[in-house]
Amino acid sequence: MPDAVKVGFVPFSGPLRGVLVVFCDDNLKFGPATTRVLGAAVDMIRRTAAANQFKGKSASTLDFLAPEGVKATRLLVIGTGKPSELKKNDLLKFGGVAAGKLRPGNEPVTMLAELPAAAMKPEQAAALASGVRLRAYRFDRYKTKKKDGEDGALDCTISIAVSDVAAAKKAFASEDHIVDGVVIARDLVNEPPNVLFPAEFARRAAQLRKLGVDIDVLDVKAMRKLGMGALLGVGQGSAQPSRTVIMRWNGGKKGDQPLAFIGKGVCFDTGGISIKPSASMEDMKGDMGGAACVVGLMHALAARKARANVVGAIGLVENMPDGSAQRPGDIVTSMSGQTIEIINTDAEGRLVLADVLWYVAQKFRPKFMIDLATLTGAIMVALGTEHAGLFSNNDELAERLIRVGQETGEKVWRMPLGPEYDKQIDSQFADMKNTGTRNGGSITAAQFLQRFVDNTPWAHLDIAGTAMGAPKTDINQSWGSGYGVRLLERLVAQYYEGKR
Ligand code: MN
Ligand code: ZN
Repeated sequence: MPDAVKVGFVPFSGPLRGVLVVFCDDNLKFGPATTRVLGAAVDMIRRTAAANQFKGKSASTLDFLAPEGVKATRLLVIGTGKPSELKKNDLLKFGGVAAGKLRPGNEPVTMLAELPAAAMKPEQAAALASGVRLRAYRFDRYKTKKKDGEDGALDCTISIAVSDVAAAKKAFASEDHIVDGVVIARDLVNEPPNVLFPAEFARRAAQLRKLGVDIDVLDVKAMRKLGMGALLGVGQGSAQPSRTVIMRWNGGKKGDQPLAFIGKGVCFDTGGISIKPSASMEDMKGDMGGAACVVGLMHALAARKARANVVGAIGLVENMPDGSAQRPGDIVTSMSGQTIEIINTDAEGRLVLADVLWYVAQKFRPKFMIDLATLTGAIMVALGTEHAGLFSNNDELAERLIRVGQETGEKVWRMPLGPEYDKQIDSQFADMKNTGTRNGGSITAAQFLQRFVDNTPWAHLDIAGTAMGAPKTDINQSWGSGYGVRLLERLVAQYYEGKR
């Protein structure tokens, strides 16, 4: 579904149309081009600001009818704060704030991409445009009636006026693909589970073929042949057969070890025989947020032709209670040969990941594996919805993830691993059991996963708190947030393919 909002770049000298968006610092200072456009109205704007106690603080807004002499219908002033405190991520936020202030409808918008000190750099203008797109995202394909004025969508053209249109377009080209990746991830998370079951999810992932991504879909028969007993056990109670999808983007040197991203794709998680309470069970359509992120990430990397070899692998199942569903007490044999006693059928994500991690480690011998999973409620108890939980057997990888987390605003917080947690998942009948006690639930889950990474440098991101239902932000109003796409895209760009 194409965005209703179209974002483009125009020269500063171009005509102004509709709503005018301008930026000022904490001294209410505008840039020279903006000052020229506003002309004599600047004085009136300053007085209006004073009357409204608008002080130009970062991301604050002043919104009013365009004053006499300014060729616009409305004027939206966005504060950028103290110039010395401007952060890399702020422009993305300003784009989101601006889009959030626009009213539903199709009135065109012109943004003067100028900071008080100077014209915005091409990357800054591109970030502004990305922020607009991320904020304007809507998932309303199942609403047949749009109520008048209520939650109406933007349907307009936003022209970002810059000093160098060609440079801004060039900078936005790759950013635009990253936003597309986030949109894909959000759409997948928001889709209802009767529409997005494993085979349909696999079909959508296979659309990456258009970008030159190699796609392999493993069906139940293929997975049985590989011995993926842990994953298959989870899906056996569902009328919808399980799938594993392997996506490969070969943008790096031939023979270079690939980077691998693995996603949990539980298309719906009832809990199985250990069934969940009905309150909020509908949210479990988002239990495939990790897989959604991997598909969105692969889109972003392939579309912008990343110079790296990358493998994306997602395990797609539906966890249902049924006469053929797996029971607590069952013992399954994973692809690694290790046996697992099922204690709680609702601890299914780690069973899916166990086989996909092992498969990827053996088949591709990657430089690292990063898995994403809406794995435990316990991670929300520990970290709330501000940080994803990070677990890793490799300090360098962990530090890099923390750094790109701060830069993108998709933050991670490192949690411990350690053999002392292992005794919680010792089983009296099998090599391990699939749950420990309530205490340290996210840690024992990660400890479980570690048994299937075979010494590969690895990081696990528990995104149960960040992938869905997280509080809305300046750049995300959607239930499915698309968390992780921007984080991991930046990780690849910054550390694994040299300069863009
Ligand atoms: Mn579960
Ligand atoms: Zn789950």
